[in-house]
Amino acid sequence: MKILVINCGSSSLKYQLINMENEQCLALGLVERIAAKGSILTQKVNGEKYIIEETMKNHTDAIKLVLAALVDRKHGVIKELNEIDAVGHRVVHGGEKYAKSVIINDGVMIGLDECTKLAPLHNPANIMGINACKKLMPNTQMVAVFDTAFHQTIPEVAYMYPLPYYLYTDYGIRKYGFHGTSHKYISVRAAKMMGRDIKDLKLITCHLGNGASVSAVKDGKSVETSMGFTPLEGLAMGTRCGSIDPAILIYIMKELNLTIDEANDLMNKESGFLGVSGVSSDFRDVESAAMNDGNKRAQLAIDIFCYGVKKFIGAYAAVMEGVDAIIFTAGLGENSPRTRARICKGLEFLGAVLDKTKNNAVGICAELSTDDSKIKILVIPTNEELVIARDTNALIK
Ligand code: AMP
Repeated sequence: MKILVINCGSSSLKYQLINMENEQCLALGLVERIAAKGSILTQKVNGEKYIIEETMKNHTDAIKLVLAALVDRKHGVIKELNEIDAVGHRVVHGGEKYAKSVIINDGVMIGLDECTKLAPLHNPANIMGINACKKLMPNTQMVAVFDTAFHQTIPEVAYMYPLPYYLYTDYGIRKYGFHGTSHKYISVRAAKMMGRDIKDLKLITCHLGNGASVSAVKDGKSVETSMGFTPLEGLAMGTRCGSIDPAILIYIMKELNLTIDEANDLMNKESGFLGVSGVSSDFRDVESAAMNDGNKRAQLAIDIFCYGVKKFIGAYAAVMEGVDAIIFTAGLGENSPRTRARICKGLEFLGAVLDKTKNNAVGICAELSTDDSKIKILVIPTNEELVIARDTNALIK
């Protein structure tokens, strides 16, 4: 069984072809600058790169080239397209309608359209990818896997905002949460590493990348998460401000005479690491400015981020009335021992003790806590594509 996983952005597309017999990735690729000048596809097979530079007017052109790359005689990994048994599509927002992955049919396409108003920046690109695949592979089954679905188990007390109730009933305003496939993957993997049944575990999962979120996963179900109605809530991120006093928005819109779009950009594109440090949205640049140039604002941006993660760990330990493991993943979580150490410093009172030497693990699954630490601290490289492929495989069987 071979599953093609597609993750479409507005001008880019990531893909992986996964062999489900052994869950190995046969090929992965990235298409950039779709519908713009200089469109480029880069496919990697066993570390070897294959690059196609060709005009791509739209997502259909891009997926046409993806399929051509996969069956390419020299650089491809399959002979015929009918070797692809199904396609799994990442869809950012499934609203309350989709608490699980679904086989895509006409009814689901209408449902996805309805969810678009909740994620106007993301869902349209996901839908374009689905439509392109449907056109090019009309007889292949497709599945939609949602970033929000894993968090649909969050209880009402956690997902409701204390706003007038009709904003929920009439406008769908509530916490949805994102990075669901990642939080799910590392929870399942953590239980395996611990040799425990996930149904008996209280986990705090920290997805720390350019976008960042923390989740509380109890008995295998998400019960809290830091992102909210949109991915803006929660932690400070690369360019997002995370949670702030909502009155700040009204105040700055008035004082700076900002339009809605300008205010939106300020919070989503000009804040976080970039806004505080003034250096970059990329953590490595910010860290280098702090360490090598003694840049105080860069250090402050890092401190704000780590403080935020620690605060969520404390809060979620209280929410679950205990915690068995804290798990780090994504760009920073997987690769920055210094950040993990900063976050875990002082958590010994909870029973979470980081082992300085074990904490040097980078890019691998590893236990980072001391042997006698009551709470395990783990690092697990995320694999959202594999979750999408697994869900797709389970549904089409
Ligand atoms: P992601 O969104 O998961 O790809 O994560 C991207 C973020 O991880 C960026 O801010 C990177 O600077 C950060 N990152 C990636 N590798 C490292 C590393 N080796 N050390 C520190 N930060 C890293």
